[in-house]
Amino acid sequence: MLYDLIIVGAGPAGLTASIYASYHKLNHLVIGDIIGGTPLEAALIKNWPGTEAISGVELMKNFVRHAEGLGGKIAQGRVVSLKKGKDYFEVGTDREVYQAKTLLVAMGTRRRKMNIPGEDKFLGKGVSYCATCDAIFFKNKVAAIIGGSDSAAAAANLLAEHASKVYIIYRNSELRCQPAYLEQVKKNPKITVIYNTNVLEVHGGKKVESVFLDRPFEESQLLKTDGVFVEIGAMPSTDLLNEIGVALNPQGYVAVDEWGKTNVSGVYAAGDITTNTMGFNQIVAAAADGATAVNAIYRHLKEIKK
Ligand code: NDP
Repeated sequence: MLYDLIIVGAGPAGLTASIYASYHKLNHLVIGDIIGGTPLEAALIKNWPGTEAISGVELMKNFVRHAEGLGGKIAQGRVVSLKKGKDYFEVGTDREVYQAKTLLVAMGTRRRKMNIPGEDKFLGKGVSYCATCDAIFFKNKVAAIIGGSDSAAAAANLLAEHASKVYIIYRNSELRCQPAYLEQVKKNPKITVIYNTNVLEVHGGKKVESVFLDRPFEESQLLKTDGVFVEIGAMPSTDLLNEIGVALNPQGYVAVDEWGKTNVSGVYAAGDITTNTMGFNQIVAAAADGATAVNAIYRHLKEIKK
């Protein structure tokens, strides 16, 4: 079957795109590895308009229900290849190959790693990239978070609900998270921010026991901790896009115009993967981006039909 549109990515951008594609009567398919995307990791979302507080899992269940309720089809699968034919695109997953007249790439971002000794060795044994998933295991324990922006502050506030002590280890001199998060961090006596400091190594035996810092904190470069949460941002997931010639900006984000149009005719992009929302990874922005791109895709399909 030749779809009008294949949406790669099933996060806020991809699922909103599906909702709008259904309204535009586009025969479309969403393909996603993790259905729901990054917000699944958010314990509590308080800035999705119309809903004062909702867990990431619940919110994304609502997105999926909404998209499927309107007739959108969602296929779970990891996209392993993208190809460009004469007047169609081919999307290969680990299970099947699909074809469409247009593509919307909305694969979002993946977590940045520290690439320091001990990080891989202790993954799942104290090293974590998901405070929402693992905070519960830190009851009365010590946690160290690396980073200094929204994810680090959100992780600290969450971990402080369980842990006895939480350190934020930040390489600069002033946290750059949202003011509301900052206020919470500053007010919480369990949280200490260690400024102007980098973590050089993660140490331990069977599990994490300490981190080695590049300068002393309270007279020691060895900081005892039961866990290390790496919260240092994310990188766009664009690995496959060079196969179809999609241009990226110097930071590696998909270069798009205000409608999500890329340099390749028929290929659009939306959400965290694009230059449009770069540095402002908010669900509301990604969702709006997905809707906008579908409007442009609809116009493109009408144009090529003429
Ligand atoms: P950011 O890119 O915003 O920040 C990354 C942080 O990690 C920075 O403080 C950076 O330091 C630090 N960092 C980066 N690389 C290293 C390294 N190698 N070693 C040590 N520190 C490093 O990432 P976030 O994950 O915090 O946020 C990503 C996006 O998601 C943002 O748009 C954010 O607003 C959004 N977000 C929103 C939330 C919300 O609204 N509730 C919650 C979480 C994230 P430096 O400051 O020196 O550059």
